[in-house]
Amino acid sequence: MPATDTFKVPARLVPSNRAAAAFRPATLIDIRRETPAMSTFRFAVPDWPGHRPGQHVMMRLTAPDGYTAQRHYSLASPPGDTGHLELTVDHVSGGEVSGHLHTTAKPGDTVEIKGPLGGFFAWPGDRPALLLGGGSGVVPLMSMLRHHRTLDLKVPLHLVVSVRDRESLPYASEFGPETTVVLSRTEGRLHAGQLAAPLSHPPDGGWEAYVCGSNGFAEHASRLLVTGGQPRDRIRIERFG
Ligand SMILES: Cc1cc2nc3c(=O)[nH]c(=O)nc-3n(C[C@H](O)[C@H](O)[C@H](O)COP(=O)(O)OP(=O)(O)OC[C@H]3O[C@@H](n4cnc5c(N)ncnc54)[C@H](O)[C@@H]3O)c2cc1C
Repeated sequence: MPATDTFKVPARLVPSNRAAAAFRPATLIDIRRETPAMSTFRFAVPDWPGHRPGQHVMMRLTAPDGYTAQRHYSLASPPGDTGHLELTVDHVSGGEVSGHLHTTAKPGDTVEIKGPLGGFFAWPGDRPALLLGGGSGVVPLMSMLRHHRTLDLKVPLHLVVSVRDRESLPYASEFGPETTVVLSRTEGRLHAGQLAAPLSHPPDGGWEAYVCGSNGFAEHASRLLVTGGQPRDRIRIERFG
């Protein structure tokens, strides 16, 4: 039996296209500091149609004079967190939307959210997943890890997170033995040796690899995967840059 048939995807993880196409109001209910530059913004979205781990949303902000700004943000929360969404946003220097969220937004504020978007990068929990995230690129992978934990999935999952230093590591308290953390300031760039264990012992059916981060990280990490024997057509990439 092919690996993709082994684990059934619950129907509620596959929202209709029509539901995903509309902007809907989302009320900010909590802000949690993850690192000095990253915070998690928790929204109540009562009519959220559901999402698959790895998908993202489009957020739209509208100023009193009608000016609007919209940006994509990955979903950090797992699908099981019904009626709520969590987005973890890096404060980009001079950034319009990330700056607003970090310096002005407060619980009670309303934004508009459209989605879920990005089916190609979704992982419904149906095949072994090798996840590589650089910096805030870990956000959609966190939704996958949380989904795996919440449903106690038996399918193998291995996460590699690369950040500058320990202080820049979001979600630190949630990582377990499935996660390898690479601190680039002291250990250098992600290298082949750090991927050797999962790539030299792939699970039955092989890994589906998910790579997320800046353009530079995505290129570097996917090159390492190919060199380590991961088939190119089983590498999915999401670029934030
Ligand atoms: C599919 C997708 C998912 C994303 N998910 C996330 C997420 O989960 N968390 C998150 O923090 N971001 C995420 N991003 C990036 C996000 O959409 C914005 O680009 C980012 O928040 C900057 O927007 P801004 O309005 O603050 O900055 P802007 O006002 O657009 O830009 C200000 C300055 O910052 C530079 N800049 C823009 N984006 C970045 C960046 N990502 N890194 C470094 N410099 C940048 C610009 O070149 C410009 O000089 C995602 C992007 C995509 C395409």
